[in-house]
Amino acid sequence: MITGSCHCGAVTFEVDDTPQRLVSCNCSICRRLAPLWFHTATDNTKLNGETDSYAWGDKMLAFQRCRTCGCTTHYLPLDDTRRMAVNVRMSDPEQINDVPIRRFDGADSWAFLD
Ligand SMILES: [Zn+2]
Repeated sequence: MITGSCHCGAVTFEVDDTPQRLVSCNCSICRRLAPLWFHTATDNTKLNGETDSYAWGDKMLAFQRCRTCGCTTHYLPLDDTRRMAVNVRMSDPEQINDVPIRRFDGADSWAFLD
């Protein structure tokens, strides 16, 4: 179980899944927002709170941020509602300290760099 909330607490998530790895991506938006992604199934995830959505380019992903404090809490793929990712920067560090972080080259090769 992984839980998290934005800074003001208006948006929360609860994931009934255990991460085997977390992903740090260098794509044009991730390098600006600096999220740490836990990719999981939508069915495993409970979301609460109102978010604003941002999608761009080919509109494959919609990044979700709290309407009050602006923290990016998760993204939702627009072409596959079964998968999503939560930003575990919103989680207490103790929940994720032992999970390996993999670097993903979303800017270029779409492959892992490690
Ligand atoms: Zn908030």
